[in-house]
Amino acid sequence: MPFWYECECGAKLDLFLDSDASCKPVCPGCKKEYHLALKPDFENLEKYYWKMDFNAVSRNIIMAQGLGDTIFVSGSGGSSIYGCISDRISKDLEFHRPITLAWQSKDRYLGMAHKIILRDLMKTFSLISEDFSSGFLKEKIEKKFNELSANLKDSKERDSREDLEYWSGLQNSAKNLLVFSRNLFATTPSFIDLLANYRSDTTIKIWENALDTQEVHEYGYMYQIRSDINYPGIFFPEIDPASFPELYTAIDNVGVN
Ligand SMILES: [Zn+2]
Repeated sequence: MPFWYECECGAKLDLFLDSDASCKPVCPGCKKEYHLALKPDFENLEKYYWKMDFNAVSRNIIMAQGLGDTIFVSGSGGSSIYGCISDRISKDLEFHRPITLAWQSKDRYLGMAHKIILRDLMKTFSLISEDFSSGFLKEKIEKKFNELSANLKDSKERDSREDLEYWSGLQNSAKNLLVFSRNLFATTPSFIDLLANYRSDTTIKIWENALDTQEVHEYGYMYQIRSDINYPGIFFPEIDPASFPELYTAIDNVGVN
């Protein structure tokens, strides 16, 4: 069936029609069993429909056919796989198929969270803002870890419990900070975070500029727009947005031993 059914626990259950025109989904989460007696010609559909909705594949097919839209802006991740199946079914059924576009790009920006993390990194590893795009970030961070290790070794030799606790605490928090930094910079930002960090007219202007310099690739059933965006550095003006790619790569490359 091109629908899912929502279980009481919130899980979405796939529906398969039995020979007696009913569906008997079992929730894999809460194990609840359902018996949806749809009846021939789906006479009873109305009874269950309030808990049903189109699944990912049929939603694209039905919305395109119903709305007759010219362009469908798709996601470029998992939804593009469903989209590929939808497109093939629509083609076979001779349903309406809009032009599908996906904007596949990387948004690089330094928002409020990035600012806090960069300041912490600078403080913890004695960095200056230029270090993030100099190509030597990893070396500088390793140098700091070597210093911490030397202090730990010294504390052990002197058998100073207090110093040992102090330096191992610093070492652990430095390691945690690196893990946190890598995760933050590796995350695909949510649009909500961009809205929280930038005025909407700024974002619209940046997107327009990006679309003016786009590359379009035909990729199976869809067209992919590739145009990365470096948002203005309003929260961290010391770092030029042109060097964001180096900064993102440098933070991704810092290892934790
Ligand atoms: Zn359930």
